[in-house]
Amino acid sequence: MERSYVIKPELGKNYPVISHGKGIYLYDKEGKRYIDGSSGAVTASIGHAVDEVVEAMYAQGKEVSFAYRSHFSSDAVEQLGAKLAEWAPGSLNWTFFVSSGSEATETAQKIAIQYWQEKGKSTKNRIISRWMSYHGITMGALSMSGHVLRRKRFVPLLEDYPAITGPYPYRKPEGMSLEEYGLQCANELETAILRVGPDQVAAFIAEPVIGATAGAVVPPDGYFQRIREICDKYDVLFIADEVMTGVGRTGKAFGVDHWGVVPDMITLGKGMSAGYTPMAATIVSEEIIETITKGTGLIMAGHTYSANPQSAAVSLAVLNYVEKHHLIQKSAEQGAYLLQRLQELAEELPLIGDARGLGMLCGLEFVKNKQTKEPFELSKNVSGKVIAKAFEKGLLVYPAVGGIEGVAGDCVILAPPLTITKEEIDELISILKAAIESVQQELQE
Ligand code: PLP
Repeated sequence: MERSYVIKPELGKNYPVISHGKGIYLYDKEGKRYIDGSSGAVTASIGHAVDEVVEAMYAQGKEVSFAYRSHFSSDAVEQLGAKLAEWAPGSLNWTFFVSSGSEATETAQKIAIQYWQEKGKSTKNRIISRWMSYHGITMGALSMSGHVLRRKRFVPLLEDYPAITGPYPYRKPEGMSLEEYGLQCANELETAILRVGPDQVAAFIAEPVIGATAGAVVPPDGYFQRIREICDKYDVLFIADEVMTGVGRTGKAFGVDHWGVVPDMITLGKGMSAGYTPMAATIVSEEIIETITKGTGLIMAGHTYSANPQSAAVSLAVLNYVEKHHLIQKSAEQGAYLLQRLQELAEELPLIGDARGLGMLCGLEFVKNKQTKEPFELSKNVSGKVIAKAFEKGLLVYPAVGGIEGVAGDCVILAPPLTITKEEIDELISILKAAIESVQQELQE
């Protein structure tokens, strides 16, 4: 083809053209094979070209793909709603369907604000989030995000929401136990609520494991329990953004399940349909839906593609596949092996300051100096170099750079499909090692 008419992430760059995929592998049209070491954008959780999902897609398409949600419900969407109610903790029994993670978090933001309005507390309309966080690219979702690189051109248009520090165990203050540190970070929420005024705060939103801005940062035990207590004390809703961590990615159905904490809303995307079709969701508690039902009875959110039968059938097939093949348990087991192999790499290679993760969501942080943990200047783009080198060698790795200069260096995420075997993990590690060694060499020259 002479020229492209498609706007790509990096303008002017040529991208290989995908041909097909199978399991953890993708192949481009030149015949080159790639290990999908990050499930794309932590999305293709059950691997590529799974027959059951493709068959469900075809079967639904033969019946009906689209029927507008204001006119009809469908068996697919009702069954998917019931399945999510079964998976979700506590009384999180109601689901609002959308098509992307950004729509899911922005819907949660709107439902939180509407909930307080229905209760006659319309001043409660601010959302507290964390500096290191990513909740999506649309203006509402970006207002709640701490992703400096994505925010910076739009700051004047974003809501000026308060943000607190998220726990970052690798860089915790010396001499403080992990538990104390976790509680100190959680208590920042109380300080922020009191500063803004509890009558102004609708909700607190957080990723159970920090993803796109810092590379799989796992909070200390006790952190989310304390967050829940503070939210309850000040009538603030807790939204767990599980777009990246949900549907088994961390070795439990939802990230918050690791700490037995029940949020008021959970947002899902990515692994919910594992890349087979766009699908995302906001799961909402009985209390919130009862309140809105007794009030205006209408949720002020929604999109044309919300709750379309085609995407619902696909997502249902994905969740059934996860259950049938025990992929949540596999995520925990194989994820522990992946983390062990990454930690071995971290021992060996001077460039890696930290290897961390939970289940099949792992991260590496690159540092200038392992002893002092001094981060690289972001302009060095170390993670970008590792990602490019790995790509050249046939391994896909996901960037995790929040752009908070001097706080976190460059990080990457390793999050292969939950179906990956030990042998395939070994293959992934050997390519990753060669890629990092080659960047290390380049930096020394
Ligand atoms: N929330 C989290 C935790 C995410 O990781 C992402 C995407 O990376 C989003 C929301 C936004 O999802 P989407 O890119 O599907 O809009």
